[in-house]
Formats: sequence, structure tokens, C-alpha cells
Amino acid sequence: MLPSLVAFDLDDTLYKERDFLRSGHRVLARTLADATGANAEELFTLISDNHPRGIEAALAMLAAKGLDIPFTVDALVEIYRNHTPDIQLSDGAEALLTRLKGAGHRLALITDGSPRHQRGKIAALGLDRFFDPDTIFISGETGGDKHTPLPFRLAEERFGASVSRMYYVGDNLAKDFVHPNLRGWTSVMLLDTAGVNVFPQHIGAWPAVHRPRVIVSGFDCLWP
Ligand SMILES: [Mg+2]
Repeated sequence: MLPSLVAFDLDDTLYKERDFLRSGHRVLARTLADATGANAEELFTLISDNHPRGIEAALAMLAAKGLDIPFTVDALVEIYRNHTPDIQLSDGAEALLTRLKGAGHRLALITDGSPRHQRGKIAALGLDRFFDPDTIFISGETGGDKHTPLPFRLAEERFGASVSRMYYVGDNLAKDFVHPNLRGWTSVMLLDTAGVNVFPQHIGAWPAVHRPRVIVSGFDCLWP
């Protein structure tokens, strides 16, 4: 029997995006604390609570204290963008990827974002153990995000007749399931049981074509 293609989303599927944001906020807080002598914890809380205007909030607080700030907003944004993220795979993700690979299934990663950002996350999570370079589709490199059929079509072209079924595992009702559904893939939504995803999963608010065919509460439910 032919293997299946199991393609994964990255953000809020294989790891929690909240952890990526926090990791960046921590680097900013430490940078500003080291430069000004202000309290790093206080800065971290301020930056996190005011996301996505955290940098402005931190600079306003430091200015109000009369502290000299040797950074522009742009310089801080660059530090945030270039930091090596401190993130971990979601519970059960490593075991599932290992299981699928061991069973001979084909794996792909389909993710939206800038190559620099997404490749930094892929490296930090060690995902190159599971995904070959030609099975990673990043919208900033392919030229089409998941609101379009492009990344799914590219995956079909890559794996062609070598697989019998195609699955897409994601979290985002706006764009993760509609094109897989229209192309006959099996769409799978990982439920945000902790309620921390950047995009809340209000499934009832979406038309049927946007909804996943399968909903699971954890990776241990998949291909057990
Ligand atoms: Mg996602």
C-alpha cells in the first residue's frame, strides 16, 4: 500500500506561537534592561502586555523615568526579528513525527511567513530531522500563502503519485483547511485546548468549506 502525505502547519500547530512572541519579548526586555539599568521583569511584562506596541510602551516608560535609551524603535525591531527563538515542539509532536516517519509516511511543512522568521523557528525546533529541504513550503519563498491553492498544489506536485492520501494538520480556520478540503485532502485541526493560540478557533463562525474534516485534542490521537 502506498504511504500517505502528512503535511503540517508550523505556528500554533507544531509549537505555540505565544512562546515565540514571549521569547522575543524576553530578548527585548533584557537588551533594554542591560542598556538602561531598568528592571528586566518589569520591562518584559510591559512589552508582553502591550503587544504588538510593546516596544513603544517600553520606550515611553524608560523616557518617563528619565533614562537614556541608546536604541531606536527600528533597531529594537531588528533585534526582535533576528533573535534565536527559545521555543519547543508542542506536546506529542516529536513522537508523532517519529511515528509517521518510521511508518514510511511522507512529511511536508506548509507555513505562511517570511523565510527568515520561519527558517529560524524550523532550526530552533530541530525540524530538519523530519522535513527534507524540498518538502518545506514557506509562503515568502513560494509566492503564495494558504489563502491560495499554491502551497497545496506544490506539495501535490512534489509527492505526486507516490502517496495515496494527503492530510493537512493545522489550527487556523481562516486558511488552513479550505484549500485542502477543496482538493480532496483530509483536513485535521489540532484543538487549542489551552486557549492560547494567536487565532481563536470559533468553528461555528466559519462556513462548512473552512471547517476541518477531523478535529483532535492532541497529537497522541493521530496515527496512534
Ligand atoms: Mg498555524
